[in-house]
Amino acid sequence: MEFDSDIAIVGGGLNGCALAIALAGGGFSVTLIDSLAVDALTDDRFDGRSYALALASKRLLDAINVWGDIAQNTQPMLEIKVTDGRAGEGPSPFWMHFDHAEIEEGPMGFMVEDRHLRRAFLSAITANDRITHIAPDTVVAQSVDLSGASVTLASGKSVRSRLIIGSDGRRSGVAQRAGISRSFKDYGQTAVVAAIGHELPHNGIAHQFFMPAGPLAILPLTGNRSSIVWAETHARAAELSGMGDAEFIDALRPAFGDFLGNIHLAGARFSYPLNLTLADHLVDQRLALVGDAAHGVHPIAGQGLNLGLRDVGALAQVLVDARRRGEDIGTDAVLARYAEWRRFDTATLAMATNSFNGLFSNDNPVLRAGRDIGMGVVNAFPALRRNFIREAAGLTGDLPRLMQGRAL
Ligand SMILES: Cc1cc2nc3c(=O)[nH]c(=O)nc-3n(C[C@H](O)[C@H](O)[C@H](O)COP(=O)(O)OP(=O)(O)OC[C@H]3O[C@@H](n4cnc5c(N)ncnc54)[C@H](O)[C@@H]3O)c2cc1C
Repeated sequence: MEFDSDIAIVGGGLNGCALAIALAGGGFSVTLIDSLAVDALTDDRFDGRSYALALASKRLLDAINVWGDIAQNTQPMLEIKVTDGRAGEGPSPFWMHFDHAEIEEGPMGFMVEDRHLRRAFLSAITANDRITHIAPDTVVAQSVDLSGASVTLASGKSVRSRLIIGSDGRRSGVAQRAGISRSFKDYGQTAVVAAIGHELPHNGIAHQFFMPAGPLAILPLTGNRSSIVWAETHARAAELSGMGDAEFIDALRPAFGDFLGNIHLAGARFSYPLNLTLADHLVDQRLALVGDAAHGVHPIAGQGLNLGLRDVGALAQVLVDARRRGEDIGTDAVLARYAEWRRFDTATLAMATNSFNGLFSNDNPVLRAGRDIGMGVVNAFPALRRNFIREAAGLTGDLPRLMQGRAL
């Protein structure tokens, strides 16, 4: 039976794009399908998110030759300060401070805006003749058999491959159609995201303030700008989103503080409802899930995309190794290696961000005292601190070759 491509990737978000480039680099032919037109994806108003890319993710982007295109638009994250606070009261005296100087590998991560990352991915995809990019078009059906898999698109086209990869986000249709159920938890929070301009330099320092309603992250962007991710109750987030610019800055100021001088909005505001969604299985017959389709976590630790890129590195490695051994890449035995590799990491991070958010997003005096003491303890012990730093840099666990700075 003839195949259109070795692999069909459903969903050309950041993880789908990264995976297509990695797999093409490993010698596979790939069809990448996304519902959205490329023009919409590269529009500045498409997505206000900025990502804290861990050092390990940076290495992967370097290894698939995308980093060179975005490097000039990234801001190294040199320090992270975590503080327990209440709006209007300023931070509590207990805080954790992580400095990249305590590890040898370099900055813990790099902040990059969605638009820069997406444009770099899309230009690498266009230039790669092993990748067929179909967008806009939507996958509406899929089927698998012993020798291969097919997806059917809304346009009537169909693509036959050896393997289908679902990178189609938190509501993954690929998973649904395969009968993979998911666990879901609504956090009752919405993240308001915006770029904020400020008078004073941030010096590459990221701040995480824990407020009772939810965390506020202030993450350094290039120039005198920072990205905020402000998690609030749905009602308060709707109020904040409805405010005029000046009113919004007035509401933000008590939580943000004055350590960066005067602040103003440096772009549009975006909001994202926050939930946890975990697929019960990462693989099925001739099918694998990556990124948010496999696990959508709380952005509290800025790890969602980093976790997805670990899937990308792991799956690309498993498939390339399988082909070198002469195996059919769509078989259960091959896909089980990927599922086994990623299962533990996914479950631990999902549980960690879940309990972290529960522990910090409330004003219970007992929990408040406990977490203040906990932060003081972590801060006092260099070995504990270094562990956190290596975790934030994505350097712990069984790293795929692409994240070790090695070839696929
Ligand atoms: C406020 C906020 C801040 C964040 N900050 C960070 C951070 O600092 N660091 C970090 O690592 N992560 C962060 N994340 C997480 C990160 O944004 C996500 O994990 C990541 O963007 C998920 O990418 P994805 O490609 O897996 O899924 P998505 O971005 O959801 O992409 C899915 C794609 O599939 C397409 N699609 C869906 N169905 C179909 C279909 N049937 N046919 C064709 N195409 C289809 C969609 O059009 C879409 O383009 C943050 C998240 C939020 C909400």
